[in-house]
Amino acid sequence: MPGPKGRGGSAVVTPVVGVTCTFRQGDGHLLGAGYVSALEAAGAAPLLLPVAEPALLEAALGRLDGLVLSGGGDIDPAHFGQPPRAEVCFPNPRRDEAELRLARLALERGLPVLAICRGVQVLNVAAGGDLIQDIPLLVPGAVRHLFKPEESGGGHWVRIDPRSRLARLAGGERAWVNSFHHQAVDRPGRGLRAVAWAEDGVIEALEPEGEAPVMGVQWHPERMFERDPLAAGLFRALVEAASARAGRAGGLRPGGAGGRG
Ligand code: MN
Repeated sequence: MPGPKGRGGSAVVTPVVGVTCTFRQGDGHLLGAGYVSALEAAGAAPLLLPVAEPALLEAALGRLDGLVLSGGGDIDPAHFGQPPRAEVCFPNPRRDEAELRLARLALERGLPVLAICRGVQVLNVAAGGDLIQDIPLLVPGAVRHLFKPEESGGGHWVRIDPRSRLARLAGGERAWVNSFHHQAVDRPGRGLRAVAWAEDGVIEALEPEGEAPVMGVQWHPERMFERDPLAAGLFRALVEAASARAGRAGGLRPGGAGGRG
């Protein structure tokens, strides 16, 4: 079946964007509903990635046009060479291993990535950076970053580097963001730079130093995309980059141009 035609007659390619899930014994593979809704709203086909064997996930990544690294519990500090300084919340060694591999491969391949909350921490550790293990313990005078999901309005302002892509998406140098974390990026990894900060100096967003379509935010745009232009814009930027990549790869991918017989 031929695909829909865009202006100029070229085929419109719906990008496939993978989203990492978490795993909880007894409950299975889990993902907050907002990730799927936000990708649907931005026009991508969402594909849920379970916590599975990293080598097999690598094969799945090869079929994707973009990747969302989702929120969740703490990464084992051993992955950035530190002993645990505070209690590690919701440790999940298999998820750490799987997502760190996906993040490293995505960075190597220039795959479009939106990394959210735990996701920006995974992205940073994958690039060799490290984390503040517990903001209340290690950042004197910190603003409150850990609100409960049901606390409506829980969040803080961020200051945004005016030269960043994030500033273009935000339409300025300030944005109000929600906040549901107790860890944060400390030293950015190779090729990444901080582009947003809370008033206490805690890093709230990372971008690559080059032009790769990668963005990491410490807040949760999937919980506010319906009413917040920046949150919606983050997903739209991911999906635009994924769509461009899908268009370039369309003729080469098995089952792409011409479809399956
Ligand atoms: Mn915060």
